Amino acid sequence: MEQAVPSSPLEQVHSRIATAARIAGRKADDVTLIAISKTKPAEAILDLIAQGQRVFGENRVQESQDKWPAIRAAHPDVQLHLVGQLQSNKAEDAIALFDCIHSVDRPSLVTALAKAQDKLGRKVPCFIQVNIGNEEQKGGCAVAELPALLTQACEAGLEVVGLMCVPPAGIEAAPFFALLDKLADDNGLSRLSMGMSDDFETAVQLGATHVRIGSALFGKR
Ligand SMILES: *Cc1c(COP(=O)(O)O)cnc(C)c1O
Repeated sequence: MEQAVPSSPLEQVHSRIATAARIAGRKADDVTLIAISKTKPAEAILDLIAQGQRVFGENRVQESQDKWPAIRAAHPDVQLHLVGQLQSNKAEDAIALFDCIHSVDRPSLVTALAKAQDKLGRKVPCFIQVNIGNEEQKGGCAVAELPALLTQACEAGLEVVGLMCVPPAGIEAAPFFALLDKLADDNGLSRLSMGMSDDFETAVQLGATHVRIGSALFGKR
């Protein structure tokens, strides 16, 4: 009897996304898998690129500046997204390096990013991060502040494509994903960056267009 070849973590994640999408009557192609490579060495990233992965995410500007220029020079078709909190004084570095920013969450950062875009003559699509569980110390704008921040961002020339969230740890994520979907709807936005290694299938069923997956692909950090 033929032994099935054990599939790679990347194949397993793709297959789990496809199953969740099918259950929800969605197309797996409408979900972008972002491989979150924070703390992982270039070799691990290159290995995933060799398997066909093309979209990656990092959470720190400095670490990305150290790791990514060499990888991108060798693989110009790879996209790099920023998913971590961004300080305004790093806005210019972020606009220069990343293809998408998921963590726009306050007026001062909007101003800094818009200024950096003008200075560098480069537009970077972004998501507004919402503090969906209303947690202290968590990144993201308050739900009530979303409409004003969105208006400010659009007027400043940012290309806002959707909303992003990291739900509270340790409780069921589904209600938070559903709320983010509703907020996007209410504000005329079509993309949802939600779902990580522990909850991405739920996120896909609830409309995620971008899932951010680290440990399920690369192993524990
Ligand atoms: C680290 C990180 C992820 C990926 O987390 P895993 O649980 O390893 O999949 C996703 N989103 C953000 C914002 C992160 O910082």
